[in-house]
Amino acid sequence: MTINNEHNKQLVWVVSGASRGLGLEYVVQLLQRGHRVVATARNPQKAQGLTSLAAKYGDALTLVPLDVLDPATIKAAAASISKAYPEGVDVLINNAGVSGTIARSSEQDEDEFRTILRTNTLGAFLVLKAMLPLIKKGTKKQIVNISSTLGSIGEEAKFLKENPEENNTRVMASNAVGYRASKAALNAITVAMAVDLKKDGITVISMCPGWVATDMGSTATGTLGIEAPPLEAPESISCQLKVIDGLTLEKSGTFFNHEGAVVPY
Ligand code: NDP
Repeated sequence: MTINNEHNKQLVWVVSGASRGLGLEYVVQLLQRGHRVVATARNPQKAQGLTSLAAKYGDALTLVPLDVLDPATIKAAAASISKAYPEGVDVLINNAGVSGTIARSSEQDEDEFRTILRTNTLGAFLVLKAMLPLIKKGTKKQIVNISSTLGSIGEEAKFLKENPEENNTRVMASNAVGYRASKAALNAITVAMAVDLKKDGITVISMCPGWVATDMGSTATGTLGIEAPPLEAPESISCQLKVIDGLTLEKSGTFFNHEGAVVPY
């Protein structure tokens, strides 16, 4: 009998934005599975969740400073990961992100829009690009861009078509244009990189974690009629990991949600 023990192989995973929220929960569950994890964060030594995990898991967890808004730290992080893991990296969880203030789209602040794009889109691209030589050397060769269904133009277009009477009181369609645009552009990066990297055997997907109770997920609760998120981080991440376990190169370029359903771009 063949036992599928793929999860327990000591794969090397890199997680960006690992100081808290979904990134931290990825690190927790990957370490529990027996993987080796590189947790990157703006200031990992000040992230209490990470330092406690480092004390518990020792060499299995490497903490590396990386600010996605600062290209020099991205390059330095790639160099130090390459030194720690010359055999390469198996999976990149490109997770760091910001939502900005959740306000009506017509009231989106210009400076905040710029920061959201620089973080969620350009920052994610630069992390992906810097980690590429390491991913090419790894065995799994997978890149997971953490996106959001709020960046799905297809979902919103479908809603408008099916609900012609609805106006901008539909909370989830009427807010956060900067965030939506940043994730739609991240999705474009997923597809472009999936096409470009298929010949290298690299799988690139977008993943929506669901609506999860983290600092970001709970930001707007109580404003604009927004309720509390239905999901907790441990559930979202265990579901996301099942989707990643089932990835193959043929699925490259797909936008999944945490339940494994395909989200339209
Ligand atoms: P949190 O706000 O809880 O955590 C965000 C993480 O991103 C933190 O670790 C933060 O680090 C990091 N980060 C922000 N800016 C930078 C930067 N410039 N450089 C490095 N790290 C940075 O959010 P979530 O955990 O909820 O979100 C994680 C991802 O999931 C994001 O990409 C988000 O868009 C996406 N997502 C979340 C949903 C939800 O409902 N929660 C729904 C859909 C998508 P620091 O501690 O230094 O600020």
